[in-house]
Amino acid sequence: MTTQIGILVVGNEILDGIVLDTNSHWIINQLKALNLHVKEKVTVRDEVPEIAKALRRLIADGCTLVFTTGGLGPTHDDKTLSGVAEAFGLPLELNEEALSIVTRQYRDLHERGVIETAEMTEARRKMAVLPKGAKPLDNRVGGAPGVLLDVEGAQIVCLPGVPGELMWIFDNQLLALLKQRVEGAFAEKIIYLPLRDESTLAPIIDEVMKDVPDVYIKSMVKPYGESGIRLWISARGNSQAKVEERVSRVANLLIQLCEEQLPNG
Ligand code: ATP
Ligand code: MG
Repeated sequence: MTTQIGILVVGNEILDGIVLDTNSHWIINQLKALNLHVKEKVTVRDEVPEIAKALRRLIADGCTLVFTTGGLGPTHDDKTLSGVAEAFGLPLELNEEALSIVTRQYRDLHERGVIETAEMTEARRKMAVLPKGAKPLDNRVGGAPGVLLDVEGAQIVCLPGVPGELMWIFDNQLLALLKQRVEGAFAEKIIYLPLRDESTLAPIIDEVMKDVPDVYIKSMVKPYGESGIRLWISARGNSQAKVEERVSRVANLLIQLCEEQLPNG
């Protein structure tokens, strides 16, 4: 059965017109590349009953995969996980794996001079309190882990509101899982180009997309310690052989054009 996807955007700042919701737009485009289409999107305020009610509605509408964005942080207005717990009648409890992620992140941020103390405060500990049965998704950009929960035949994925954190978790922790849901023929390749400036890539991508249509090319958020630019090439269709051929052709073209651009070949 096709995966029915819902997105729940949480945040007063969205409904008060302070912040434009770019997160759901970004998620929708990532899913599109996998041939996964979003059925419904709902935006609610930072209130537990509102979050719970919206989740129940998405599930009642048949969504089997629901993404939430926002409200995972340490402040009083971050209520998404309480909303998830209420929606499914689950208790909230400290998750040791989540706690070790939060601890590592604050130690790291402290060592890099971003924050004043690495101490595990009550507010920070709150980010490791998850609905029972949920699993944390590592976050190497900010403090709050993402959350994955299998419940009532559906999968709930909670992501932070800060776009860079959301993107990192999606690219590094979720893609592999989502690919299992792709239907039809799908092929992909990740290549590394030794370019320093992403802007030099734009005309190369334009040229390749003109030559080989129906292939999705995306430069990815880089994991720690990697240099160069990581490109994800994917294609979908009906014939496995054809999509694989298209992806390989694009990978070779990109590498060739990139070599031509670099000084000394
Ligand atoms: P934090 O740990 O930083 O508190 P969080 O998961 O609690 O993260 P929010 O507090 O909801 O996230 O949002 C943090 C910031 O991320 C907001 O101030 C806003 O700038 C940005 N943000 C939140 N939601 C969205 C969204 N849907 N689209 C784009 N940016 C958003
Ligand atoms: Mg917050």
